[in-house]
Amino acid sequence: MDYQALAQLLFPQVTETPEELEARYPARNLPEGAVVSRMAPSPTGFVHLGNLVQGTISERMSHQSNGVLFLRVEDTDAKREVPGAVEVLIDTLKHYGIHFDEGATHDGDIGIYGPYRQRQRAAIYHVYAKKLVTEGQAYPCFCTEEELAAMREKQEAMKVNFGYYGEFAMWRDRSLEDIQAAIAEGKPWVLRFRSTGSLENQFKFDDLVKGKLTITENDIDHVLLKSDGIPTYHFAHAVDDHLMHTTHVVRGDEWMATLPFHIQLFKALGFKLPKYVHIGPLMKMDGTSKRKLSKRKDPELALTYYKAEGFPIAAVKEYIMTILNSNFEDWRRANPDADLDDFKFSPKKLNPAGSLFDYAKLTDVSKNVISKMDAATVYTLLTQWANEFDADFGAKLAADADFATAILAIGRGGKKPRKDLAVWKDAKDYMGFFYDDYMNAPVFDEKFEKATVKEALSKFLAAYDPADDSAAWFEKVKAITTEMGFTTDMKAYKADPAAFPGTVADISAMIRMAVTGKTNSPDLFSVMQILGKDRACGRIQAAIDSL
Ligand code: GLU
Repeated sequence: MDYQALAQLLFPQVTETPEELEARYPARNLPEGAVVSRMAPSPTGFVHLGNLVQGTISERMSHQSNGVLFLRVEDTDAKREVPGAVEVLIDTLKHYGIHFDEGATHDGDIGIYGPYRQRQRAAIYHVYAKKLVTEGQAYPCFCTEEELAAMREKQEAMKVNFGYYGEFAMWRDRSLEDIQAAIAEGKPWVLRFRSTGSLENQFKFDDLVKGKLTITENDIDHVLLKSDGIPTYHFAHAVDDHLMHTTHVVRGDEWMATLPFHIQLFKALGFKLPKYVHIGPLMKMDGTSKRKLSKRKDPELALTYYKAEGFPIAAVKEYIMTILNSNFEDWRRANPDADLDDFKFSPKKLNPAGSLFDYAKLTDVSKNVISKMDAATVYTLLTQWANEFDADFGAKLAADADFATAILAIGRGGKKPRKDLAVWKDAKDYMGFFYDDYMNAPVFDEKFEKATVKEALSKFLAAYDPADDSAAWFEKVKAITTEMGFTTDMKAYKADPAAFPGTVADISAMIRMAVTGKTNSPDLFSVMQILGKDRACGRIQAAIDSL
């Protein structure tokens, strides 16, 4: 076979050589050990937790080694593309602190290794495709859908492996004349790789997550270019990651199945193989068994979900590191105030089987993260969230920033800060009673006569002095307790509950209910201080009147 002639027949338009291309994509001038990694998403419009996990790993490996992180848009599947998806992706990742040093942006590409959108790279792939044909390593295949379906049926009947290989590879050894004739007829063709691999042969491979593996060679003549001249993922991966000088490919382990082919392809093209970081899927418990997070069943897979719930970005990032590296939590305990990026991420500590996503744990992490923020930060983030997801609440927060910040300051800043908020969505329930519109009408414990409640509230109203400090305030509550025959001695009450109508806790609960409309609230003394005497006492009076 005259491969030169075949290459010329298939790619007459290609005049550039691989050497010329290599010169256009010079080696990167980076320090020893610097990782060049990338995110290579398909713009389907759905940005999920898996993207963030993959992005976090790539970002950490690149930036903690003073390397480069770039964004390449894998838009070879035009059918799946959603308009604006690239922009959504860029914005979402940026929102979570994943900054790219180069690649696709809103306003074109940044960097000299582009274009960073695969459809714009068609001519580049064709240069290497032509080279492979010239060397007899690739050939055109004119099989129709029907022929391929028939092949599959035959393989099924013969109980042999599926795929285009060996005796089933119908166009593998066709003559130049046959190919010329098919082209002259205008038949569509794909370009296939001529595999020399055999299922009999195995080789060793080291994956940074999966460890040492024994891999069986690939014997299938996979498609390199589709009939529209656009490459498959496999071919684009080899060409792009070579030219862009990627050192580490971080990707989902669904690509393990075609890894033998990728390794073979890099070799056939004369490219140095990058290191691979194959990450397992995100799992969750479903009853007693684990399963993959699914787009259909699990709303928490979508990143928009976390925004709508109101998880602070810092909490999501902190949680992701928790599930990625098992030593992260110990590090955090030892370095409670350190920047997340000071933690040394290691791909070796990833669970090869995939990370377990646990919503309750995320909530705990988020509570911690929020509890460490100062009131002004909480105010800013909460208001941002509310403006987008609860405009009425947002307007109330904005109308009096000092008031809202004072509320959010309750129990904050000490050694053991309160952990009331896990997500901004919780805030209205937590602090809504400060706003008259959101306060529920008090419902008092029916254990006590209305007259008793009224008496306690009236006594408190008469005694309340906003100038009191917290201790003096509580002394007054205790005094009312004793006056009314209730007890402040919890032990005595426990020993003989029938001896008292109730305790100081019951009296406090009545006041709390009158002031907040709730059985639970942050420190009542502080609540009354922030509400101010008029509003606090007005609420108590209204409760008395209602009884
Ligand atoms: N476009 C591929 C995907 O979204 C990229 C895999 C890779 O990072 O190589 O799965």
